[in-house]
Amino acid sequence: MIDLTLTNARLMDGSVVELHVDGGRFVSGGEPRRTIDVEGRLVTPPLVDCHLHLDASLTVGRPRFNESGTLIEGIHVWGELKPSLTEQDVFDRAAEIVRWSAAQGTLFIRAHADVSGENEAMVRGLLRVRDELAELCTIQVTAFPQDGIYAREGDEERLENAIRLGVDCVGGIPHYEPTSELGLKEVHRVFELAKQHHRRIDVHCDETDDPASRFLEVMADDTVKHGLAGRVTASHCTAMGSYEPYYSSKLRGFLKRAGINVVVNPYANSLIQGRLDPYPKRRGFAQLKELLAEGVNVSLGNDVIMDPWYSLGKADLVDAAHLALHFTYMSGREEIAEMLRCATERGARTLALEDEYGIEEGKPADCVVFDAPDALEVIRLRATRRWVIRRGRVIAETTPAETRLDGRRVTFTSN
Ligand SMILES: [Zn+2]
Repeated sequence: MIDLTLTNARLMDGSVVELHVDGGRFVSGGEPRRTIDVEGRLVTPPLVDCHLHLDASLTVGRPRFNESGTLIEGIHVWGELKPSLTEQDVFDRAAEIVRWSAAQGTLFIRAHADVSGENEAMVRGLLRVRDELAELCTIQVTAFPQDGIYAREGDEERLENAIRLGVDCVGGIPHYEPTSELGLKEVHRVFELAKQHHRRIDVHCDETDDPASRFLEVMADDTVKHGLAGRVTASHCTAMGSYEPYYSSKLRGFLKRAGINVVVNPYANSLIQGRLDPYPKRRGFAQLKELLAEGVNVSLGNDVIMDPWYSLGKADLVDAAHLALHFTYMSGREEIAEMLRCATERGARTLALEDEYGIEEGKPADCVVFDAPDALEVIRLRATRRWVIRRGRVIAETTPAETRLDGRRVTFTSN
């Protein structure tokens, strides 16, 4: 006897198969103790949220709201709040967002812990979340120096100290350093630290509308020099939305050659970038579609959920994919499927998790059953996650809402 069989499971390639699970892993077959007929619904490996500031989630309005909506006012509001945060407060809020995420099929998250300033509550709280919630969700923690490492005495040491506490990735924010020379110095320092401590790299890079912000090329060069292909991620990269064509194509080639992952965060960036432009306004997104065409791995993050930068959000990565699709013109049928891959398997590549990710015999039985037959319908409807399975166990189940108009059911589908 095996634990579970899903019958009539439709995979991304359109094939309909039976999926068998035993001992927490996908297996080849057997007589199941439990069977779920998923009736032709799409089954994918879990959603992967590649960028989430879990330490700030659910703090919206504390101590005040960000009324201008700018990145800078957000950083100021956060700066006022963070000295008073405790490890327990960070843990409780972050754990709640991990529960929201898992309930909606996100079982892998890369979180960012702010390590600027004296309070270690953010990094300690998130490391506890990573370790204590590991059964529910696989979490990686990045040490993220929100205020840079050269603007204030001691912040460079605090970044290194956070690495010693056990974070998975070294972060940075070169465009936020006081000068571009210090930004360059920061990128090099991040690579040195990552190499020295055997960690991955995930840098907030060129998150600005300034076309002169060009730290991504430095990251690409350092990745090649240090031989770190596949272990380096550049997040946000919104200045790419303002680069002219010649430089853009040269940069995309560099990124491809370096094997850098790029993470697009549609929520905050759709509200922040271009905000100060007169009309016509820029969109301020990384060149997602063009990067994919070049062969660069791109994935998605929720980034901000009810925090000083964004008062909305509910930790749904399909919603993020829906928004990114619009801002990056990814509306072709195959492009829509690719956008769902950016939210799933491409995310697993960014987190370098491929060994434990995917619907394949022998791998951990993690998957999501969408209440829709294909990627287009998943994103169009932002489809209900009917069942979420983690290590072979059904951990979340959602009953789709039913709408009736004058007593007759409305399904929002064409059949
Ligand atoms: Zn971020």
